[in-house]
Amino acid sequence: MDVAIIQKIITQLGSAQHPVILTHLRPDGDAYGSLLGLGHTLRERGAQPQLYVEGGMIPMYRFLPGSDLVQNLPSSLPENTDCLIGLDTSTRERLGQKTTSWTRPIDIVIDHHVSNLGYGTLNLIVSEIPATAGVLFQIFEIAGWKITPAAATCLYTGISTDTGSFRYRGTNAKTLQAAAKLVELGADPSEIAKQCYLSITHERHALKRLVASTLSLKDNKKSAFLTILPDFYKKSGANGEDTEGIIEEVISIQGVEVGSLFEFTQDGGLRVSLRSKGNVDVNAIASSFGGGGHKAAAGVRFAKDAEKNHDLVLAAISKALAS
Ligand code: AMP
Ligand code: MN
Ligand code: MN
Repeated sequence: MDVAIIQKIITQLGSAQHPVILTHLRPDGDAYGSLLGLGHTLRERGAQPQLYVEGGMIPMYRFLPGSDLVQNLPSSLPENTDCLIGLDTSTRERLGQKTTSWTRPIDIVIDHHVSNLGYGTLNLIVSEIPATAGVLFQIFEIAGWKITPAAATCLYTGISTDTGSFRYRGTNAKTLQAAAKLVELGADPSEIAKQCYLSITHERHALKRLVASTLSLKDNKKSAFLTILPDFYKKSGANGEDTEGIIEEVISIQGVEVGSLFEFTQDGGLRVSLRSKGNVDVNAIASSFGGGGHKAAAGVRFAKDAEKNHDLVLAAISKALAS
């Protein structure tokens, strides 16, 4: 972690009265946990932060304290904004279509995606820390800022979900120390686990079953992939956010080194999620198509040529497995 950058970030965050905090589209637990964790901490310090994300809050993460503070992205930035912050978002575009017309630069980027090239004025990208919520925790510790039970719950949720409940490579002693500290500060591990992992809706479960039936294996069963077709949503009653976590079904199979999920969208596009057990760098594969992420979890989106790109990604996986 770059100490000089952290100090600059602490100074700017600490003096902002009307900060605006953003995170990535199709938000996950780390996106919401980081957004709210920073929001609570800056509020505690007397600021009036605005928390925006495309689509607002999704039902699954409504249990997070202060979730009603999260608003849908507005078409223009509030005029009194004195600090614009992007969290857990690897590229400028992933902050959302509506933000592209905003003229203010992103003042501060805090992230952990290895593919993040730094699109902010100040960039703190720590790929050794497995969640942006963990990067924020370190910043708050260095700054000596109070972490309330609400903030601790949000930050713990970010770390727990991005590490697959402390299972993925990248989880180390420091991760567990941060989690332990957050529990001391008020996060409840079993309640958070219940909300994140033991509360899937019947619609989401129905979608999971439909998707599981599409399982295909190739490359000596080292590559496994799933498909989502547009009519799966109507059949199951689920919606877009319910795809989160489905890919874990394939990477959890013994011997599978790369798991992928191909979602064919209504508009002819293709959304690809990639997971690796760690021997294959899926960020390299996603990046070669214009996407990104981490070594073991990455993604890419294609606006068109869904079938062709589906085959190209599978070929790239085969090539990576053969090398
Ligand atoms: P997902 O498979 O959607 O859970 O994404 C896995 C990881 O890859 C996350 O850390 C995402 O931030 C990143 N990622 C997913 N899609 C993209 C994309 N189109 N461009 C860049 N990064 C992505
Ligand atoms: Mn995320
Ligand atoms: Mn993250």
